[in-house]
Amino acid sequence: MDSFTLVVASALVAGIMAASMLLLYRASSRQRCLLDWSLSGLCFLASNLIGAVALKYRLDTVLAPAVANMFYIAGHAGILVGVRRHLFLRPRYDLAGLLALAVLCVHALPYTQGSVLHRLFLFTPVVVGINLGVVWLLRRQPDDGVKRAYLPLMALELLFAAQMALRLILEFMGSQFLQTSGSLFVLVFLSVSTMACALIVTHQQELALRRASLTDVLTGWLNRRALHDIARREFRRCRRNATPLFFITFDIDHFKSINDRYGHSVGDAAICHVTTLAARALRGYDAMFRIGGEEFAVVVGGGALADVQGIAQRLRELVANTPLLAQGLSVPMTVSVGVAAARDADAQWEDVLKRADEAMYHAKQHGRDRVSVHGIDLAEQKKAVRLHAVVN
Ligand code: GH3
Ligand code: MG
Ligand code: MG
Repeated sequence: MDSFTLVVASALVAGIMAASMLLLYRASSRQRCLLDWSLSGLCFLASNLIGAVALKYRLDTVLAPAVANMFYIAGHAGILVGVRRHLFLRPRYDLAGLLALAVLCVHALPYTQGSVLHRLFLFTPVVVGINLGVVWLLRRQPDDGVKRAYLPLMALELLFAAQMALRLILEFMGSQFLQTSGSLFVLVFLSVSTMACALIVTHQQELALRRASLTDVLTGWLNRRALHDIARREFRRCRRNATPLFFITFDIDHFKSINDRYGHSVGDAAICHVTTLAARALRGYDAMFRIGGEEFAVVVGGGALADVQGIAQRLRELVANTPLLAQGLSVPMTVSVGVAAARDADAQWEDVLKRADEAMYHAKQHGRDRVSVHGIDLAEQKKAVRLHAVVN
């Protein structure tokens, strides 16, 4: 392929990049980094169009390389700006604009007009700096599941920076080897960066959707769907390692009367109040779920029954001793709690949850505001709790 065809092909791909990013912005949840990347595509399009015209009509004015280079560097800076916005950093269009303007002005210097090599000397470090800036920003992100989607863009920016540096060295040594293949690299860079940027946004949206589908909106606790996945995994893990597994379930007592007396919004606040207190009482690593309107479940992997019973008591006491303060009123609240341990005969996690539920209803039937452990009668439970309190 000759240079002209390559530059025209690059212009075409840059146009596709601008259009795809814009379409994705309109079709998705309107993440503004897509607009930055669309603008970047437009800059590359302008740069390549000017380059193509300059090649065809042998434009040898200062303006052609000056404006083309300005757009070229603005295109690279646009990718960095979008990455910054994606990472919730200030996009810094001011700096990108100043940089583009500086590139334009530098072309007025006789040194810059002197030769392609001079311009390469001046602008290669700028492009490599932007490329490495993108890699550095993405690399220092914590690995929260999205980071895998950054890898293609990071690899691409690194390769492009290496290619630019190599081209400068070869040009300096008098080799023209990378002059045509440099245009080929731009073509590849634009094609892959379109996919890499789109991947970042779609992967992030997929994760957000998955998180939303597993989270209860009111309390932020995991929902029943999440319980299904996590409980099954924990059940299998505990079976494999022969470690104990417990379920704690709890339900707010006489919750209907809170709704009836104070209204639905105070009812909602009461649910959040209980989950906040419960989270304080439960150990941080226990998986907590809202499995019904005002019914909750906790999966506890490992430990002894007495410990789990202690946790359940702590939770009950905390709720009973901390009334909800709403609309200038103090609303007393209590919960009934059920505890069950997995048994060898259990075929699935639902068997343990069922017994924890039975224990909870047992607590309801025996006066509410209490903890029941499945398989242990109330007198024994009281003894066990007293023992636990003494031990601690
Ligand atoms: P018990 O002590 O036997 O548990 O009595 P209860 O009144 O708490 O009865 P139950 O557990 O059956 O109460 C469920 C009520 O919870 C019914 C429903 O109106 C209410 N509820 C369910 N989800 C929500 C919610 O998201 N917000 C509010 N405010 N109320 C809810
Ligand atoms: Mg209830
Ligand atoms: Mg209920």
